Amino acid sequence: MGKINVDWHESHKMPANPAEQQRAEWHYGHALNCDCRKVAPSIPTLLETHGYKLPSDAPGLAGVISK
Ligand SMILES: [Zn+2]
Repeated sequence: MGKINVDWHESHKMPANPAEQQRAEWHYGHALNCDCRKVAPSIPTLLETHGYKLPSDAPGLAGVISK
């Protein structure tokens, strides 16, 4: 289990009924700024669909993307 970035979570609340675009935006920011949970395997695909490109060394991606 990684370390939670409390400040980031406080300022980035997920909306109650997020649109897919909002989810992509949230998960993108989350993977770059917080290490509190593993990125679900479906997330990189979601992000790519919406034009977000995660660097392979993003904190939340450890062990998810293996290339
Ligand atoms: Zn987090």
